[in-house]
Amino acid sequence: MKYDYLVVGAGLYGAVFAQQAAEKGKKVLVIDKRPNVAGNVYTKKQEGINVHQYGAHIFHTNNQKVWQYITRFAEFNRFTNSPVANYKGELYSLPFNMYTFNKMWGVVTPEEAAKKIEEQRRMAGIANPSNLEEQAISLVGTDIYEKLIKGYTQKQWGRPCHELPAFIIKRLPVRLTFDNNYFNALYQGIPMGGYTKMVENMLGDTEVRLEVDYLEEKDELDRLADRVIYTGAIDAYFGYRLGTLAYRSVRFETEVLNQPNYQGNAAVNYTDSETPYTRIIEHKWFEFGKDEEGNDLPKTVISREYSSEWKRGDEPYYPVNDEKNGKLYSEYKALADKEEKVIFGGRLGEYRYYDMDAVIASALEMCGREL
Ligand code: UDP
Repeated sequence: MKYDYLVVGAGLYGAVFAQQAAEKGKKVLVIDKRPNVAGNVYTKKQEGINVHQYGAHIFHTNNQKVWQYITRFAEFNRFTNSPVANYKGELYSLPFNMYTFNKMWGVVTPEEAAKKIEEQRRMAGIANPSNLEEQAISLVGTDIYEKLIKGYTQKQWGRPCHELPAFIIKRLPVRLTFDNNYFNALYQGIPMGGYTKMVENMLGDTEVRLEVDYLEEKDELDRLADRVIYTGAIDAYFGYRLGTLAYRSVRFETEVLNQPNYQGNAAVNYTDSETPYTRIIEHKWFEFGKDEEGNDLPKTVISREYSSEWKRGDEPYYPVNDEKNGKLYSEYKALADKEEKVIFGGRLGEYRYYDMDAVIASALEMCGREL
């Protein structure tokens, strides 16, 4: 046996583990089926712009330990996410805050906004919100639900809002202040030079083999190491023997435009139900439209994001954490617990709608137990 650990998947979870294990003097092999490291945080330079190949990733956290850890591998810029919602040509500020309420209702003070929300909540008669629709209406009222939440959510998840769990919408803050910062986070930013470089720094000298499909060569690869850290999809690991877990997949239509500024913001969400894409990302604004020397970039790169139900062969992005899939996951989890040599982790391994900081926290915690 050559390695202490085989890490399957070079995304954030795998990279944190590999880094921590190497630091403790363990011998580690990282494999990934893609031709590159960094999983879904992978960025690639196009026209001098770090393009987020698997969708926008904005690092944000309240966890000081995670922030101290990750800033060892990259310097972060001061990017603050302030997406704009476009509802049939009307523009609204996100997350839901006084700018949004003023535009929607003409209210000027927090008291007026709170009253308006309360009125709409009362009219809807929701006491204990039990799904995303009820949760949304009780947080921000029916007008905002209809214009900014309903269409977007149904496009993103391919399901009506009343069939989705309430927790998804609780990710978004609601504020009675003039604050367009999407996240309630103490620390926020984009790693300068791109996420790929950050992950490469984490991996350091660790041996990485790319374009290796673990599940195709499982027996041979397992023989190489004492223990396995598996960050792929948990249902795929077990050959889908209990059925397939639902995921949402995302397709990006990326275009280089011969103009310096397409939409004036990193993210614009199309919240109506007719526009087929959920949002357009203009990547240069994650880094203020500048190259590494601080020069303005003449071109721009945009990605339209289309959401779809995952089927085998697609890239899985979001786990669909509804009741049915939650139950199926716990059955897979019971099988996973019996795999003595293997630890399952990350968004796919644990079937959880993890943000980047939560993935790092969870990986660090596991390292604490394992190493
Ligand atoms: N959401 C919405 N309208 C928006 C943005 C978000 O209704 O303009 C809701 C939607 O239900 C979505 C959830 O908020 O699934 C979480 O959005 P977030 O931006 O956190 O999703 P992610 O960035 O992970 O894709």
